[in-house]
Amino acid sequence: MKKVFLLALLIVAPLLATAQFAPWKAGAIVSQQAVSSYGVKKCFAATPIPDDVWARMQGKSYAAGCPIPRTELRYVRLLHVDAEGNTRLGEMICNKAIAKKVAGIFRKLYENKYPIECVRLIDDFDANDEKSMTANNTSCFCYRPVNGTTKLSNHAKGLAVDINPLYNPCVRTKNGKQTVEPAAGEPYADRNKDFTYKLKRGDLAHSLFMKAGFKWGGDWQSLKDWQHFEKP
Ligand SMILES: [Zn+2]
Repeated sequence: MKKVFLLALLIVAPLLATAQFAPWKAGAIVSQQAVSSYGVKKCFAATPIPDDVWARMQGKSYAAGCPIPRTELRYVRLLHVDAEGNTRLGEMICNKAIAKKVAGIFRKLYENKYPIECVRLIDDFDANDEKSMTANNTSCFCYRPVNGTTKLSNHAKGLAVDINPLYNPCVRTKNGKQTVEPAAGEPYADRNKDFTYKLKRGDLAHSLFMKAGFKWGGDWQSLKDWQHFEKP
C-alpha cells in the first residue's frame, strides 16, 4: 500500500509542478518546490516567438510598419522574486542579439532574490508605456518612437530593458521644469531617498548589465532614465 502511494506521488508531483508552468502565465506565483521539480534551467530560456505570443503582439508592441522581422526577436521566459519574496513567472521580448545574455542576467537576479515586481509583455498594458511603467512592469521590446520625438527608441529594436520603472522613473529637466515618466513615479525622482525597488549604481542589476556591456540611463547628462539599460 505504502509503495503504491509513493509511486503515485512520484508520478503526480511532477505533473502538478508542470501544470504551474505550462501554459506559462507571466505574473503567476510558483513555489520553490514546483521550481525544483520542474527544473530551474527550463525556467530561463530564449526561444523564437511562439504563435500565441506573436498574436498577442500584433497591433500593439508589434505595430504596423515595424522594420524588425519576427526572426530577429526572441521570447524570453524567466523567474523573478518580488519584494514580498514571492517567486513569479516572467516573460519578455528581446532582440536575439541580447536575449541569451538577458536570460542569464535575470537568472542571477532570481538566484540572489533581487526584487523585481512584475515582468509581463507590454501588450498586456495595450503597449502603452505609461500604463506599463505605472504598473512597475519590467519590459524590453516595444516598437515606438522615443517619447515626444520621431526617433526610434532602442526598445523598438528590443535592445533596451527597463527595470522596475515606477520606482526608477525617467526624469527630464528643461528650463528648470521637471517632467517625470511615469507621472506616478514623481515621488521616486529624488534619488537621495531610499525605497523598495530602487535601482542603485553598483547594485546587482546595475553591475550585471554593466558587465554585459549595456549602457545605463542613470549615467546620461541630458536626462536621467534610472530604469533603462541599453545595448549600443
Ligand atoms: Zn527604457
